[in-house]
Amino acid sequence: MIYSATIQNKLDVFAIRKQFPVLNREVKGKPLVYFDNAATTQKPQSVMDVLVDYYSGYNANIHRGIHTLAEEATAAFELSRDAVQKFINAASREEIIFTKGTTESINLVAYSWGRQNIKAGDEIIISTMEHHSNIVPWQILCQEMDAVLKIIPVNDHGELLMEEFEQLLSAKTKLVSIVHVSNAMGVVNPVDKIIESAHKAGAVVLIDGAQSTVHLDIDVQEMDCDFFAFSAHKFYGPTGIGGLYGKKQLLESMPPFLSGGEMIKEVSFDGTTYADLPYKFEAGTPNIADTIALKAAIDFINQIGKENIRRHENELLAHATAQLREIEGLKIIGDAQNKISVVSFVVDKVHPQDLGILLDNAGIAVRTGHHCTQPLMQRFRIPGTVRASFAVYNTKEEIDVMVTSLRKAIKMLL
Ligand code: PMP
Repeated sequence: MIYSATIQNKLDVFAIRKQFPVLNREVKGKPLVYFDNAATTQKPQSVMDVLVDYYSGYNANIHRGIHTLAEEATAAFELSRDAVQKFINAASREEIIFTKGTTESINLVAYSWGRQNIKAGDEIIISTMEHHSNIVPWQILCQEMDAVLKIIPVNDHGELLMEEFEQLLSAKTKLVSIVHVSNAMGVVNPVDKIIESAHKAGAVVLIDGAQSTVHLDIDVQEMDCDFFAFSAHKFYGPTGIGGLYGKKQLLESMPPFLSGGEMIKEVSFDGTTYADLPYKFEAGTPNIADTIALKAAIDFINQIGKENIRRHENELLAHATAQLREIEGLKIIGDAQNKISVVSFVVDKVHPQDLGILLDNAGIAVRTGHHCTQPLMQRFRIPGTVRASFAVYNTKEEIDVMVTSLRKAIKMLL
């Protein structure tokens, strides 16, 4: 282990920060405060080292080669699949499909499962707080199949209206696709209850785990979801790699999504047979380097322990929420009971974009805008929010810097 992750169960943030070279840089002459972790986390040195080791030591195409480099690359690639299987506690490695990330995973389900199972008049349920990547694929599917998209509303705290959800469910419901943790508000949805009710109605459930995988303990068997989508770049891994978990029986019954090399057993002009899981869904040369580095990200998280990470992030969230509530005219969007790691807010008479620019001038990276959740912004009748999202390497001192700069920025703008 290259750093001491915990001291008597308290996180050693400074030892962790040393693993992230980018945190040493300055922005506009000020030390970087990186609070855009819900968009993408920074990467520890161990993840970057794997990329360099792969390209400088054993770069090769995988699965088909019999030479040493190909065997080494294949072994490392498949080790990552085992790591993901354990990380989310899937029953078997065949249930882990590597994709570019959450967006591609949802599209895989929409195109493969969706076009096989959705018929005219069928219903799909999503919610008001979905990311566009869990809206648009279903809109396209519904248009194509003449199916109906139903939306679970949210209350003023940003929580799903569960009674309304129960009423939307019927024999017509074929799929419920719900975000586990809202990227725009940090609200944690009651996915266990959603899955139980959806299954009772005979529907299949997809959970968008883009934001939850880094913060919560994910056990897809206990959760009993049918599909679970995630992106490695949200949990200290590289961009361009993520995955789809699917129950084996479902994946086996589904047609391929992309087709070509790698996903076949035999090809002839009389017909083609497909490879077994998971390869049936992994056409073409995959993103080998980033897949191998994904395991280093999982190792990084496991070394610290998700419980320790969560405790630290909860302290940061509580600190930030308390500080921000003191600011006159500031309103937190999504003040639900069950939240994690994200605080989103608007300030009376001030545009979020202007605040974002002034915070950037102070070296503070926050996200401003609609966060790819325009229907949620429409629900709250706002153009967007300022969103600060926290990771294991953030500190209370950084939050204090943000709050001081925010106060100054608001004064300037009013
Ligand atoms: N869903 C949620 C909740 C997200 O936060 C994101 C990324 N912002 C996505 C889906 C899409 O993830 P990706 O861009 O990595 O495919």
